[in-house]
Amino acid sequence: MTKIQMTTPLVEMDGDEMTRILWKMIKDELLLPYIDLNTEYYDLGLAHRNDTDDQVTIDAAEATKKYGVAVKCATITPNHARMEEYDLKKMYKSPNGTIRAILDGTVFRAPIVVKGIEPCVRNWKKPITLARHAYGDIYKNTEMYVDKPGKVELVYTSEDGEEKRALVQEFKAPGVAMGMHNMEASIESFARSCFNYALDTKQDVWFGAKDTISKTYDAKFKQVFQTVFDNEFKEKFEEAGLTYFYSLIDDIVARVMKAEGGFIWACKNYDGDVMSDMVSSAFGSLAMMTSVLVSPNGYYEYEAAHGTVQRHYYRHLEGGETSTNSVATIFAWTGALRKRGELDGNQELAQFADKLEEATLSTIESGKMTKDLALITSIENPTVLNSEQFILAIRETLDTLL
Ligand code: NAD
Repeated sequence: MTKIQMTTPLVEMDGDEMTRILWKMIKDELLLPYIDLNTEYYDLGLAHRNDTDDQVTIDAAEATKKYGVAVKCATITPNHARMEEYDLKKMYKSPNGTIRAILDGTVFRAPIVVKGIEPCVRNWKKPITLARHAYGDIYKNTEMYVDKPGKVELVYTSEDGEEKRALVQEFKAPGVAMGMHNMEASIESFARSCFNYALDTKQDVWFGAKDTISKTYDAKFKQVFQTVFDNEFKEKFEEAGLTYFYSLIDDIVARVMKAEGGFIWACKNYDGDVMSDMVSSAFGSLAMMTSVLVSPNGYYEYEAAHGTVQRHYYRHLEGGETSTNSVATIFAWTGALRKRGELDGNQELAQFADKLEEATLSTIESGKMTKDLALITSIENPTVLNSEQFILAIRETLDTLL
């Protein structure tokens, strides 16, 4: 069999712990036998980030700007325990944070839906893609505890000295107060990412905020979304038969629970934080959630939504057997390969990505799966496979499909 050729390199960001072990198995068993894999490799494993003073993360993000598409393995975000474990020179920032700061953009998370792993919400038939605005609001706030009577005010002083004041609260007794902000340009870029991704994936966009209560702050989000939509996307959406729908966040939540799925749910920062965990756990498992960072400039970075599965890695190091789910990491690769194929007009590559996804899902549907899925599946007497056996089972299915 001749291998599929690639014209443009894919940016490959290797990572840490159990997902690094899966990464190699996926490449060896599911990609290299079929594709003449053309990647520009960056080792984002913590040891190499430390060796390069984290320059490798910056280089990987810059390469993504150059080539347009990246695939990333889960990586450790250092904390105090990791500083000791890896003898780090400093507590490096989260690689995802560094990459996002360079590429800008929005993270879209979507569950991988498979027969036999039914969502807790019975009427959810199609994935719900969650888009979280990743700037500002309470994540960049200033808070204050007020311990005695007095007034808290919001004061704005323009560069030329003009002042605006607003009373937050006249405190008669102790309490708490908070100030937060957002940027019009950031909201615009978020809206644009959502609408572009909707056209890309042929899904409607739903957006909810609380503009009836927050008549300036949330009203600004509503207005920016509508303006970006009307000026830049209305016609394209009509041509594609798609819709943009705004409602109050409480109404959106109620509708989501009754819906079939198959749309993009755009969320303000806090709503996205909360709702993405609800959506992923209701769909079954964190190990079945994909994540893609889409920049307003058209760069894509694909990854699994979960972390490095540290507990399994320690068991693996002790020589114990692991049954770690590789589905989201496989789908990170297929997402990136399909996008590379689309951009390069390389149909063979895009079709291979489809086949590999099909093989992965039908392997699970045939009853072969990892332990995390076996615990929640409706399939009777599933066969629980270890990490490697599961990948080999997918390869067997893939060979029958190709
Ligand atoms: P985790 O997602 O690795 O694991 C949390 C729990 O979810 C695990 O104990 C396991 O029970 C389950 N789980 C997750 N993925 C699974 C899989 N593929 N198969 C089977 N079970 C799975 O999160 P954590 O334990 O909080 O973090 C471990 C490390 O991952 C940390 O160092 C953290 O910094 C890093 N992390 C990285 C990313 C990323 O790179 N995007 C995201 C989250 C956490």
